[in-house]
Amino acid sequence: MAADYVAPLRDMTFALRETAGLADLATLPGFESAEPDLVEAVLAEAARLAQHVIAPTNQAGDRQGCRLENGTVRTADGFRDAYAQFCAGGWNGVPFDPMQGGGGLPWAVAMVTQEMITSANMAFSLCPLLTQGAVEALSVHGTPEQVATYLPKLVAGTWTGTMNLTEPQAGSDVGALKTRAEPAGDGSWLITGTKIFITFGDHDMAENIIHLVLARTPGAPAGTKGISLFIVPKFLIGADGRPGQANDLRCVSVEHKLGIHGSPTCVMSYGDNGGAIGYLLGAENEGMRCMFTMMNNARLSVGLQGLAIAERAYQQALAYARERRQGRLIGQVGGADVAIVQHPDVRRNLMLMRSQIEAMRGLIYFNAAVLDRAHHHADAAVRAEQLGLAQLLIPLSKAWCTDLGVEIASLGVQVHGGMGFIEGTGAAQHLRDVRIAPIYEGTNGIQAIDLVLRKISGKGAAALSALVEDMRAVDKDLAGAGPALEAIRTSLTAALTAVDHATARLVPLAASDPNKAIGGATPYLRMLAVTVGGWLLARQALAALRLGNADRFNAAKIATARFYGEQVLAQVPGLLPAVLGADEVFGDLDVA
Ligand SMILES: Cc1cc2nc3c(=O)[nH]c(=O)nc-3n(C[C@H](O)[C@H](O)[C@H](O)COP(=O)(O)OP(=O)(O)OC[C@H]3O[C@@H](n4cnc5c(N)ncnc54)[C@H](O)[C@@H]3O)c2cc1C
Repeated sequence: MAADYVAPLRDMTFALRETAGLADLATLPGFESAEPDLVEAVLAEAARLAQHVIAPTNQAGDRQGCRLENGTVRTADGFRDAYAQFCAGGWNGVPFDPMQGGGGLPWAVAMVTQEMITSANMAFSLCPLLTQGAVEALSVHGTPEQVATYLPKLVAGTWTGTMNLTEPQAGSDVGALKTRAEPAGDGSWLITGTKIFITFGDHDMAENIIHLVLARTPGAPAGTKGISLFIVPKFLIGADGRPGQANDLRCVSVEHKLGIHGSPTCVMSYGDNGGAIGYLLGAENEGMRCMFTMMNNARLSVGLQGLAIAERAYQQALAYARERRQGRLIGQVGGADVAIVQHPDVRRNLMLMRSQIEAMRGLIYFNAAVLDRAHHHADAAVRAEQLGLAQLLIPLSKAWCTDLGVEIASLGVQVHGGMGFIEGTGAAQHLRDVRIAPIYEGTNGIQAIDLVLRKISGKGAAALSALVEDMRAVDKDLAGAGPALEAIRTSLTAALTAVDHATARLVPLAASDPNKAIGGATPYLRMLAVTVGGWLLARQALAALRLGNADRFNAAKIATARFYGEQVLAQVPGLLPAVLGADEVFGDLDVA
């Protein structure tokens, strides 16, 4: 049996305090309620829901998947009830406007509750995640009437949202989409086309589904400049504000896939009978700009999936390693077989999992707090500077954390030995579930390109230099901390030198020959992300030292930073040749 999930509340609140700066966030206008005691109470309640209501649905969702029955998608046993409890507790609206029924808490806090829900059941968590995107798009671009009609229901979760970008010929290249929107003559539009891979495109957990659909209007320019965004409800809203007549849209089929079986991935057909009724959201041909509004949070939330599944895989691997007895220690005479957790290589695997999980948690919460400051700080100059930093961090959070999610879930299987490969233990499910995260919401390859061509070059250069300067500034404190932090200090210095070297090579190349520069983008992203993770762990270790290492938790933080410094951060300079030589080594691959 899979081990139960237990929310790592102490590590979560530590990261929230020490890397996200919760006390400081609570001083920002609009976040007065984010006072640390209240936040801790909220998190304890979220942990109860995640552990006792949502986590028990995870394996049933994987085994049963979803099925299309008489035109409606049926979710697995327990999903409807868990979703009802999730909404009743107000968990769908944690970071949203209290005027619309939301909790008004910072995104940094919402990330923690989201981490718990995602660890508990990633497939389930996708439904609120997509709704979150719809709430953001409507909040920023909706007319007052649209806001009044849709927002309170979406914030409450009574209605859910979807994002409809992908079509068979338009994946990474969204600009290739063909779905059409024709004026209906009464201010609404008639939408016709097929969308694929639509998450929770249909289901039985909510009263209504509000599809946000990208489509082209007549005469729209080619590519991304000619795309508009439409609100297309499953059931049209009647004069009484309630869902009424069915719209002209349907789920054609549900995909069979590697993981997240509990999340219906739908082929959606719009307008089989003349056109689905849609309402323009934002201005015509501004659809991509509207999508960008929610991209930062969506990408951060997908990065969080890597962290959340890695945490669940780690908990399960650790429990198994303490239970499973096999072999003796070298030199052991007599006595029983030892628990595998005693074997140094198993311990190394577990530490590799734990240290990178803590680094990821630091990055995701930090990134969320930077976004909070970018939107709520009273000083416009600080807001602009924080937005630049948030945008630089987003591709790191999305790509590094999802790649690590896969690597760590795989290590979890490894710790289980053969039992990890057997479905009954549940270790394999984590690996299958998290495998999608490096693919959707902009593949990790696309994230790396975004980092090199847009985030560290041009206007982004200032954000990177400020970040590197901050990372260098921690050296003084590390030097004063003595031998306990020497390993992370040495590795951080070497990593920063390597990052500087790689940046100096890529930035001019991005301007002169971008196709060559992007050859080194993926190893560059890894270098920078591992370094930022090391910096955040070093800061956490300094805080732990200050708080006193007589406490086991603080002592473990310091040990984790040392492990990460020696075993992970020390590898950063080794990636440098892969960045520097990238433009010369791909020539041999036959592209014909
Ligand atoms: C389970 C699941 C759920 C999804 N949910 C949704 C959803 O709710 N809504 C929605 O609209 N879509 C959704 N998607 C679609 C998803 O976002 C796309 O699959 C993703 O954007 C990649 O597009 P693609 O599959 O067409 O791959 P392609 O674009 O064909 O990419 C294939 C490979 O080529 C690389 N590549 C492509 N173009 C470039 C380039 N210019 N430079 C460098 N490398 C490149 C990619 O990195 C990738 O490795 C979902 C997909 C899945 C599988």
